[in-house]
Amino acid sequence: MADIIQLLPDHVANQIAAGEVVQRPASVVKELLENAIDAGASTIKLIIKDGGKTLIQLVDNGSGMSETDARLSFERHATSKIKKAEDLFKLSTKGFRGEALASIAAIAHVEMQTKTAAAELGTHLKIEGSNLAFQEVKVVPEGTSISVKHLFFNIPARRNFLKSNTVELRHITDEFHRVALAHPHIGFQYYVNGSELFNLPEGNLRQRIVHIFGKKTNQKLVPVTEETQVVKVSGFVNKPEFARKSRGEQFFFVNDRFIKSPYLHHAVLSAFEGLVKTDCHPGYFLYLEIDPASIDINIHPTKTEVKFDDEHTLYAILRATVKHALGQFNVAPSLDFEKDPNLETPYVFKDKEAQHPSVTVDRTFNPFAEQAQGASVSRKHRAMVSKPSETASWEALYVGMESDMGQEKAFEGIQFESDAITGSIFEKSAEETVQSTATTFQLRRKYVVTTIKSGMVIIDQSRAHQRVLYEKFLRNSTVKQAVSQQLLFPLSLSFSSSDVRVLQDIKETLDAVGFVFDSLEGETVRISGVPLLVQESEVGMVLDQLIADCHQEVATESFSQSDVLSKTLAKTLAVRTGEVLEAASQIALVNDLFACKEPLISPFNKPVYVTIDENEIDKKFI
Ligand code: ADP
Ligand code: MG
Repeated sequence: MADIIQLLPDHVANQIAAGEVVQRPASVVKELLENAIDAGASTIKLIIKDGGKTLIQLVDNGSGMSETDARLSFERHATSKIKKAEDLFKLSTKGFRGEALASIAAIAHVEMQTKTAAAELGTHLKIEGSNLAFQEVKVVPEGTSISVKHLFFNIPARRNFLKSNTVELRHITDEFHRVALAHPHIGFQYYVNGSELFNLPEGNLRQRIVHIFGKKTNQKLVPVTEETQVVKVSGFVNKPEFARKSRGEQFFFVNDRFIKSPYLHHAVLSAFEGLVKTDCHPGYFLYLEIDPASIDINIHPTKTEVKFDDEHTLYAILRATVKHALGQFNVAPSLDFEKDPNLETPYVFKDKEAQHPSVTVDRTFNPFAEQAQGASVSRKHRAMVSKPSETASWEALYVGMESDMGQEKAFEGIQFESDAITGSIFEKSAEETVQSTATTFQLRRKYVVTTIKSGMVIIDQSRAHQRVLYEKFLRNSTVKQAVSQQLLFPLSLSFSSSDVRVLQDIKETLDAVGFVFDSLEGETVRISGVPLLVQESEVGMVLDQLIADCHQEVATESFSQSDVLSKTLAKTLAVRTGEVLEAASQIALVNDLFACKEPLISPFNKPVYVTIDENEIDKKFI
């Protein structure tokens, strides 16, 4: 047989390597940022257009490259950072494999301008899919500017695989945050579609965190420092009371490189044990400095995992250090979990001045009119019934019901018990039956129990309400006919600018469910209207949660704004386990639930109710 093995041509090898190094625009951003830092830049400018699909440009004032180096830098395994194998063990730079530029140039149009301090003239060159399009001598500023256009132009499958611009941009911004947090002494500017998203002056770590995550972050930070022979730990943890329901700001850096480490994460969590509720996550920005020889650097460049020689010691040191920091700031005793959260002032109001009470007189009020305006109806009632203005009394709860649900649809798949005699003689509709005869009761402030023809149903109250609210908000966000309630005084809330950006991205959906924004810019959000079911005092919490959920969801494949928004609202507004429901609310909940399209499962895929047949009950009595 003839010889069949051949060496792959360079451009093919580069494309294959590119598949590993460049998954999406954010990977390019990471590589370019790291190169600029390795080149000793003190200011770095990142320019992005259309989620990085149209343009990724990085301008640095670092060392620059000579004419030969400029051309060589795009060759595979071309690096200035290691010369011999031993160098691998004392690496202090971010790159060393000499793969990034070659890979990027294999799958995009790359243009570079670069000049060293010593040279009078610089180099300008352009490479398209590994081919040099041109190279010229040019007057350019000191440092390097690289622009990457038409990413994946020659790999359509990859290009089609990219997510929306919003999603890709968020990945880029995450990457930018990580690098900017690892290097507070470097100034960063970040432009997106022509407008400045971040301008981070050089400063210390605290200033950097506050510049990125907003002014209100400052009060949350507790400094952490410890120096041992094995490791130097520095940075901040958030005070426990600011722990969030979802993982937000959690950053580990090892030797100024962002890493993910479930093991060390656990060490930090264990230091917070007893200080935050089980479902809340504390924020942290922790920096470890370790002898490079004691960590495995031969990991893949795009991966963020690191292997430590002595993980156990690191765990113990980290845990003790964080504990110590929390103890020193005396944050532990101020927490009291027995407090009823409903009685606490939501934190968005904590630092606000009290508003003067105002008296509004309703001149049209007629005490003899039959329809009292919801005054006797508690918040939960209002949350559950569809038309609050028509809910004066118990029976009135059902006035608006018919319009909300088709009679048959309402009880699809489940038959309610009718009165043993009347049910069979008079053909009552299921709906009438449940109004007049079905009794409900609450079990351990957790379940609503009611009877059906074949036995009984046990409904998880919180999940049921989540399902009801979820479908309601989803409907509103697609139909765009939500009713919003005008606030007497517009609310002013402050967020970090990147959080405001998230809200801007989903503004249309927020409008659709009933939010009215007067302004949504910089770090302030002014709101003059909220959806009918949202209380004014809950707005801050709802938006916080929403931003966190969006951050998290974006990473997943199926990101839909209305879905995330509806889930967040459902999760934050639904009645909780432990809340007492009055009879009317229980019935309203049952009815609303079975009017849902999918009453069986909660929006978070948990079972909502179980049925127990009479037969099963009978069996227990044998
Ligand atoms: P690596 O960073 O692993 O060495 P890269 O492909 O990212 O590989 O870069 C190749 C080489 O090009 C680097 O080693 C460096 O010498 C040079 N280089 C890349 N970017 C810059 C830059 N922004 N400024 C100066 N030199 C750079
Ligand atoms: Mg590199």
